[in-house]
Amino acid sequence: MATELFDLVRKQLEHLRELGVEGIRPGEVPVPAVTQIQRVSADPFEPIHQDIGDCTRCSLHEQRTHVVHTEGNRKARLMFVGEAPGADEDVQARPFVGRAGQLLTKIIEAIGLKREEVLIGNVNRCRPPGNRAPMPDEVAMCKPFLLREIESVQPEVIVVLGNTATKNLLDTREGITKLRGNFQEYKGIRVMPTFHPAYLLRDPSKKRETWEDMKKVRDYLDNP
Ligand code: URA
Repeated sequence: MATELFDLVRKQLEHLRELGVEGIRPGEVPVPAVTQIQRVSADPFEPIHQDIGDCTRCSLHEQRTHVVHTEGNRKARLMFVGEAPGADEDVQARPFVGRAGQLLTKIIEAIGLKREEVLIGNVNRCRPPGNRAPMPDEVAMCKPFLLREIESVQPEVIVVLGNTATKNLLDTREGITKLRGNFQEYKGIRVMPTFHPAYLLRDPSKKRETWEDMKKVRDYLDNP
């Protein structure tokens, strides 16, 4: 980053010299120009991920390999939120890359989008041992970082995947069977709870309901 900035300033100064500028006073032209470039290219998640750091806030850090951050388009209109990384995600440091992730990619493509066009994350960023559900104290430590990402991107729709993610994002005790298929709300953002892709792998008959839920999401994005 420092080298990039240095190069930008140097280029800007060379450009000014070509234009016949002999000297500049501190605070003149190049600084605002560089600041502008910085603002345009900055990743809004960078400060959030820096704050997370090599996190040891809860005991999930003890057995994890990687912290698995939200990935995808920082200007996405649609975001998917799961529960926590599994074994594949823990190794690759990317959310939803195992079998459930491959099914999620197909679900995204089924509504005419590419995986890179949306955001994909989890309420918890470290793999719980044995893939157990994260405990309330673990959720309390990790969820604020997801909420900061949501706040910075302001997606139009969030699809929450499965019972645990739905309860944890929406702070509700209602189960997924009751909530799925009906838009909920989080801070003015539409939230669609649907079945977790891992559940769909175990019970493929539930794919039809997920497809119904995703059609509602697609229709809303087509006609907000
Ligand atoms: N299940 C999840 O909830 N999240 C992942 O990233 C992978 C599987």
